[in-house]
Amino acid sequence: MQSETPVAPAYTGVAAPAGSAGSTGFNPLLRLKRRVKKGSLLHNKYTSAITSVIGRNGGSDGGIKLKKTALVEEEFEGPTRSGTPDCKAALRTTDSSLSLYSETNTLVGTADDVPVSVMTGDSSSPTLCSSAGSSAGVDVWSTDVKAYIKSYNHANAYELGRSSHLHYYQLPFPYRENKYIIHGYRFYDSHRKSFLSVINWYGWHNETSNIWTHLLGGMYLLYVALYHFPHSEIWHASEVPTPAKYVVYVFLMAAIKCMFASVFWHTFNGTHLLKLRSKFACVDYTGITVLITASILTVEFVTMYDYKKSLVIYLTISLSLGVMGVFMNWSPKFDRPEARPLRIKFFILLATVGVSSFVQLVFMTNWKYAAGLLTPVTNKSVVWYLVGVFFYGSFIPERFRTDVLTDKSIPTELQLSTDLNIVTKHRDVHFREVPTKHPKAVCCATHAQSIKSLWWVDYFGCSHTLWHFFVLLGVVGHYNAIIDLFTKRWIL
Ligand SMILES: [Zn+2]
Repeated sequence: MQSETPVAPAYTGVAAPAGSAGSTGFNPLLRLKRRVKKGSLLHNKYTSAITSVIGRNGGSDGGIKLKKTALVEEEFEGPTRSGTPDCKAALRTTDSSLSLYSETNTLVGTADDVPVSVMTGDSSSPTLCSSAGSSAGVDVWSTDVKAYIKSYNHANAYELGRSSHLHYYQLPFPYRENKYIIHGYRFYDSHRKSFLSVINWYGWHNETSNIWTHLLGGMYLLYVALYHFPHSEIWHASEVPTPAKYVVYVFLMAAIKCMFASVFWHTFNGTHLLKLRSKFACVDYTGITVLITASILTVEFVTMYDYKKSLVIYLTISLSLGVMGVFMNWSPKFDRPEARPLRIKFFILLATVGVSSFVQLVFMTNWKYAAGLLTPVTNKSVVWYLVGVFFYGSFIPERFRTDVLTDKSIPTELQLSTDLNIVTKHRDVHFREVPTKHPKAVCCATHAQSIKSLWWVDYFGCSHTLWHFFVLLGVVGHYNAIIDLFTKRWIL
């Protein structure tokens, strides 16, 4: 797949022969004009611009038919052969205007100063203008602002990525996930390169430490699963029920899967193939979901083992939720940033099922017994997960770097969908030639190279690496906690 020439993402505006619209019975610009007349386009400023465009070029004359191509988000996978996303037949932008060109460079439309929020009357997807396909086989055309902004600068990044690692401002927007990590981004044109980057074949990059924290962690857990646990007292003790022993293996397998899914994501997320990259992210999410589900299953197993009916109910509910979670991870609907609250609620629900088994144990026995049984889990595992979450959410230490200035925010999903200013007027802000020096680095020439400026967070010790480290401690701690629980429950 990688040896093939990447898919061309440009908009291809095909100038149709005069009268062709009549022959197909469908003219997108005529349809748009009708919508404008009906007032179905919501943005007045833009409506007038589009109306004037249609007046010049569309209408019953037929004139122009535009063809949807791979830049539309669902199909966008790579840069053009010619290397620029705004090459001929594309949407061209200048600092203050947006222009639509046909393949023959015929000007189709111009709108000055474009804080666009144009929505078609019958669609929730923000588009500059759009038309539905027809049964007569006319290509659907949609100048999707969101797809355009999201793919902006992709071809530049692709060219740069062939010979060097990129800085933050050279990345297209979908690749910007941590505004405090500035250097060392991979933007590779092949999976082979990504694979070799595990050993820094093309230089140390900003995923090296993320890969190795979980690669070493995964190897250690393989050792635990293949050697340590089979040689443990628990495994050989006849007092410990066989299903309980297998539950430990379920947890270890889930933990190993989580580690290697994470390694996979961090190894291959430097690909230029955007669609594939989001699928790789799903692999990572799935690993986490399976690990959380398995961790909760082990706790339920210990707490409810004497109450078989309750145990079956808890295990069934948790397993069902886990399976639902995996499907959710792979659904594009739940992958979107706005689905984040839903994802958080889901994990809270999953955890609540585990906690409720503990609460039930308190009622069925007593607080002291229940708390004593669960203490190893909180002390050896939960505490490390919480420390990890703290780093994950706070972007510490990289937020305190003083070698370069970092942005206040990353454009939101709504801005990326509607505000063309971020790639027109504010292009110099979002796509700088070089990162801006921090005032401290301007004052003192040696400061940027000093360890105190935290320049090294791009390559080692950033919040995500710390998150990985504490997740690993949490996993190893959970294994040790299960061993303690089983010992308390069945051996002592
Ligand atoms: Zn990670």
